[in-house]
Amino acid sequence: MTAQLIDGTALSRQIRAEVGRRAAALTARGHRPGLAVILVGDDPASAVYVRNKVKACADHGLHSVLECYGADLPEAELLTRIAALNADPAIHGVLVQMPLPRHISAQKVIAAIATAKDVDGFSVLSAGELTTGLPGLRPATPHGCMKMIESTGVPLRGKHAVVIGRSNTVGKPMALLLLQAHATVTVCHSATPDIGVFTRQADVVVAAVGRRNMLTADMVKPGAIVIDVGMNRIPDGEPGEGKLCGDVDFAGVSEVAGWISPVPGGVGPMTITMLLVNTLEAAEAAVQ
Ligand code: NAP
Repeated sequence: MTAQLIDGTALSRQIRAEVGRRAAALTARGHRPGLAVILVGDDPASAVYVRNKVKACADHGLHSVLECYGADLPEAELLTRIAALNADPAIHGVLVQMPLPRHISAQKVIAAIATAKDVDGFSVLSAGELTTGLPGLRPATPHGCMKMIESTGVPLRGKHAVVIGRSNTVGKPMALLLLQAHATVTVCHSATPDIGVFTRQADVVVAAVGRRNMLTADMVKPGAIVIDVGMNRIPDGEPGEGKLCGDVDFAGVSEVAGWISPVPGGVGPMTITMLLVNTLEAAEAAVQ
C-alpha cells in the first residue's frame, strides 16, 4: 500500500472531543444541545442507526429524545409531533429516520422540520442554502467527506474533483461543497458511459454509488485523494462474505492513490460525528 489512510475513526474522535467541549460550555450556560430522533416502523437497520445516534449524543453531553412509532402511524400525527419539536426550546435538531412507511410522504415530513433544526440538511430550504452559498446545516455524510479531505492538508482550490453518484443526500451536496471549496467538479452517474475517462483526470474522487469494486486502480490518477462513501456487503461464497465494504477496490486503489479512506472506519463514523456537529451548531445559533 502506497496511499496514506484517511482514518475516519481517528478524525471522528478528534472532532467529537471538540463537540463534547463545546456542548459542555453551552450546558454550563443553561442550554444543553438537544436532538430529537423519530423512528417510524420496525426496519431493523433503521433501529440500529437511531440507537447509534442517540448513544453518540449521550457520549458527548448532548441531550436526546428517541420517539418510536408503529408503521401504521398516520402522517398527520407525525407532522403534529414535528411541529411540537420545532417549538420545543430544549430541542435544537429534529431528525426523522428514513425510509418511512409508504403511506407517509418523506418530502412532506422533511419540509415540516424547521430549517434551523434540520440537522440532516435534507430539506429543500437547506439544499437551497447550500446551493446559494448561504450559511446553514449541511448534510452530514458529504460534510464529513469534506472534513476527511481537509485532514489531508491538500488544498482543494484549483483541483479537479469527480463525484460518482448524484443522490440528493450524498452526491449532489458533495459536488456543491467541493465547488464551494473552489474545486472544478465533475459529477458522474449511471448514465455516464465511461467513468474512468473522468476519474483518471481527478485529483479527488468521491465514490457514492452503492456498488462494490466500481472504482478500480486503472481508473485512478497516481496520488489522488479517494473517498469511499459506499456501503455494501461482500456476497456469499466470496472471501470475507457478509462483511461491510465500500465502492472502491481498496487493495488495488491504495497502490495508486495518494490518500484513501477505508470501509469500515472511513465515512461511516464521520456521518454520525457531523450530525453531532450540526446539532451543536444549531444549538449555538439558537442561543446566541
Ligand atoms: P442512491 O440514492 O442509491 O444513489 C446512488 C447513485 O449512484 C445514483 O446517483 C446513481 O445514478 C449512481 N449509480 C448507480 N449505479 C451506477 C453506476 N453503475 N455507475 C455510476 N453511477 C451509478 O445512494 P446514496 O444514498 O447516494 O448512497 C450511495 C452509497 O453510499 C450507498 O452504498 C449508501 O449505502 C452509502 N452511504 C453511506 C453513508 C455512510 O455514512 N457511510 C451515508 C449515506 C450513504 P442515477 O442517479 O443515474 O441513478
